[in-house]
Amino acid sequence: MNRVFNFSAGPSMLPLPVLEKAASELVCYGTSGMSVMEMSHRSPEYEAIIKEAETLLRKLMDIPENYKVLFLQGGASTQFSAVPMNLIGRTGKADYVVTGQFSGKAFKEAQKMGYDVKCAATTKDTGFDHIPVITKDMVRPDASYLHICFNNTIYGTKYHYIPDIGDIPIVADMSSCIISEPVDVKRFGVIYAGAQKNMAPAGLTLVIVRDDLLEYAEKTMPTMLEWKTMAENGSMYNTPPCYAIYMAKLVYEWILGLGGLGVMKEMNEKKAALLYDYLDSQSYYTAPAKKDSRSIMNVTFVTGDADLDKKFAAEASAKGLKNLKGHRSVGGMRASIYNAMPYEGVEKLVEFMADFEKTIPRHKI
Ligand SMILES: *Cc1c(COP(=O)(O)O)cnc(C)c1O
Repeated sequence: MNRVFNFSAGPSMLPLPVLEKAASELVCYGTSGMSVMEMSHRSPEYEAIIKEAETLLRKLMDIPENYKVLFLQGGASTQFSAVPMNLIGRTGKADYVVTGQFSGKAFKEAQKMGYDVKCAATTKDTGFDHIPVITKDMVRPDASYLHICFNNTIYGTKYHYIPDIGDIPIVADMSSCIISEPVDVKRFGVIYAGAQKNMAPAGLTLVIVRDDLLEYAEKTMPTMLEWKTMAENGSMYNTPPCYAIYMAKLVYEWILGLGGLGVMKEMNEKKAALLYDYLDSQSYYTAPAKKDSRSIMNVTFVTGDADLDKKFAAEASAKGLKNLKGHRSVGGMRASIYNAMPYEGVEKLVEFMADFEKTIPRHKI
């Protein structure tokens, strides 16, 4: 077995013990005589799996009782349409903070659907290099919700605070930072995330929603996107993404076994600090994200020379450090160092960066 360090932004690395556990029961789960992939989602064996997944996630994230946990499909992008359809009925309008590509897409989607949505703040002018300070006066007092993207996967920025906007529910896209550290769930109305960054294989979308917010869905909206329907049916209105939910359960078990999200946060901060400390100690590479907004999940950096960036990604890949090329829209490099990335992977990356800097002087390119 020759596993690489995979810095992909998503789908991304899964913890090796999780993959091994899944492999060990791939063909035959317990005494069921079949693979989880082959099970009826209505079977007692599978019911136990999805129930346990929810129980473990509730424990892991300390999710209050008045919040529903939904295991859905369609990716985070489907929630860009589902969020306004489920919530805008509260007051008929909603506000968005645009701090990167995904929050921009969420805003545009609501606009496209003809809703009264307003951009409360954006950092587009400075290339999405930081997270703005959001205060109550920036949000319309009668907004149904404020949508934010808690960790900006492409630009490598994250909120280091939760905006204090009174009673207006915050809806947060946490696709690339879910279960990376403790968050105070009760400060949010809705948290959603595509699972393929930090939680499970692709195919699963998590929605955590405060139950009083289930009452505002558009009467004519597609049933499949309606959170209330999914909540009333235990995420089983139709066939859920069974295997991805099972994998998520294994990931939750793995994190709880390590000590929970407090420990995960420490491990993630340690990895991120190794990389950022190196970046701050030299001048060959630049980290575009402002220090007070830096993500501990996605670390972006550039050499300032597109050819050199390309060479960097190619040579790193040859050394088993994969997928370091930045997002196609921004270029440069991005190291996604989610929960499953071992500390050793970041050590190897920093070693490689230092070697590359020494052996390839800029003027030689
Ligand atoms: C990847 C990502 C998305 C898109 O997720 P899909 O599941 O592919 O739709 C949305 N938001 C954020 C923050 C992401 O990182």
